[in-house]
Parts: sequence; C-alpha cells; structure tokens
Amino acid sequence: MTASRLPAPFRATDLPERVTIYEVGPRDGLQNESTTVATSVKAEFVLRLVDAGLPAVEVTSFVHPEWVPQLADADDLLGLLPRETGTAPQVRLPVLVPNERGLERALEAGVTDIAVFASATETFAQRNLNRSVEESLAMVSPVVARALEAGLAVRGYLSMCFGDPWEGEVPLARVVGVASRLADLGCGELSLGDTIGVATPGHVTALLDDLENAGLTREHIAVHFHDTYGQALANTLAALRAGVTTVDASAGGLGGCPYARSATGNLATEDLVWMLTGLGVETGVDLGKLVETSVWMAEQLGRPSPSRVVRALAKGSS
Ligand code: MG
Repeated sequence: MTASRLPAPFRATDLPERVTIYEVGPRDGLQNESTTVATSVKAEFVLRLVDAGLPAVEVTSFVHPEWVPQLADADDLLGLLPRETGTAPQVRLPVLVPNERGLERALEAGVTDIAVFASATETFAQRNLNRSVEESLAMVSPVVARALEAGLAVRGYLSMCFGDPWEGEVPLARVVGVASRLADLGCGELSLGDTIGVATPGHVTALLDDLENAGLTREHIAVHFHDTYGQALANTLAALRAGVTTVDASAGGLGGCPYARSATGNLATEDLVWMLTGLGVETGVDLGKLVETSVWMAEQLGRPSPSRVVRALAKGSS
C-alpha cells in the first residue's frame, strides 16, 4: 500500500496548462537491467502504466536481440498488449526501431507509433551505433520514409544534446544541425536527450532558442533529462517555461545510461508528476497508482526505486 498524498497546487502563470508525459520505463528503463524480466511482467508493467493514466508508454525496441538481450522478447510482448482499437484508444504505445528490419517487425506487429534515434556527437554515434552521424542518418532515413508512408507517427531521439562523456561540451550548432536533419527526414517529434545528465537550466533555454531560430518550434520538441547531477526537474521547469509540453520520464526512475558513471539516470515519472501537480499543471496521471506500480516493479527487480517521491510516499506504508 502506498499513500496518495499530493502537494498543494499553486498555479504558476508562465507554464502550459497541460503536459504530456512520455513514459520510457519499459524500454529505456529496462534495457540496461542485467536481470532478465519475464515478458508477462513487462506486459503487466505497461498495462499498469496505462491504467495510471500515462498517455504514451514506449513499450520495447526492435533492435537486434544481441544488442539488447533484455528486449529480445519484443514480438511476444506486443502480442500480449491490446491494439490501438483496445480499451484505451487514446494511449500511444510506441516502439523503438533502429533500422529497416526493425520497422518490418514493427509493421508486422501492428505498431502505429515508432521512434528512431541518432546521436548529436560523432563519438557516441560510433560507440553506440558503430557508424558516423552521417551514416546513422542514412540508416534512419528510409525507416522514417517507409513509416510515414504506412501512416505511422515517428519520433526522433537525439542523444548527447548537452554533453558527451568523450567529447565534453557539445556545441549548440552541432545539436541544431543534427536535429534539423531528423526533422527534415519527417520526424514529427524530436526528443532532446541529456544522456549523461549534465544539462543545467540556462543551457536548456539556450538550446531551445537556437532550435526555434532554426525553425524547430516547441510543439515538435520533447525533452529527455537524466537526473545524474540532480538537475532534471530544474531543467524540465526551464523547458516548460520556454513552451515545451512533452516531457520524457521513467516510472520509478528506472534505467540510466551505461556511459554515465552514476547509477542515477532517467528522471523519475513520480518526481515529475509531483512537481507538475504542485504547479497546477494537468497530466492525467494518478500518482498513487503510479507509485504502487513502481514499488511493485522494484520488487520484481529486487532493489528499491531511486525516485525520491516513490520513497517518500511508499514510506508511509505499514
Ligand atoms: Mg534515458
């Protein structure tokens, strides 16, 4: 049992009325877990997140099973989930797709929403994709084209937007350049990843301004912050004040980046919902149900959630 406490709402005037939380726990959260999670547990995780009111839940990835063994059951997992015509027609259940083979699998599985990915830096492109930035865009290009032809929604992830563990600082112009390429390919939404968690709020605002000057307006931008240095909520607030309305987060703070030294990774969805509730911003998420889900998932994984809000609310249990 968990408490259902909520912060008192104090509406801030410079924020959007509603924020779309794009939940990445089942994919980004679980992909770095060394313990294999049963497919039925993953399905229950996704369904519980949907039941908690999350409007978009990234389910899994069609990467080659050798790259990410944890997600090798993608086809089976999708088979356990309702299609778009199911009980929750408004909910998006996107799947990460790295290449054309992945797209074929996604289409066969009846997926209607995909995400592709690229890196803002050469070093991470080489380490993560074994390709240059240019070569990885060339790989993604036909995937996006075919997906759009098939009527799918396409999101583009861009990694290392605020810093790179090998290259250090990443010039804003570099990020704007690769982001523009992804947008030109046809990605309807771009998720700016702070893969190693080094962003600070002024950096966020500066990047969003430069993107807007390049024609990439806020309604097409999502932010994906990591809490490695405790900055994820401050960065989120800066992005919301700048007009962003889609924020990526991971239930219970699951997952991180194997290239960042700290175990603390993705912004926890509960921490985000707590702040947004306090600010009077609507999310449609039931925090009590979400916390219960993360406590349950932490039990499956055998260790406590790193989310401050999960710990604070779960503490009240007997
Ligand atoms: Mg992440």
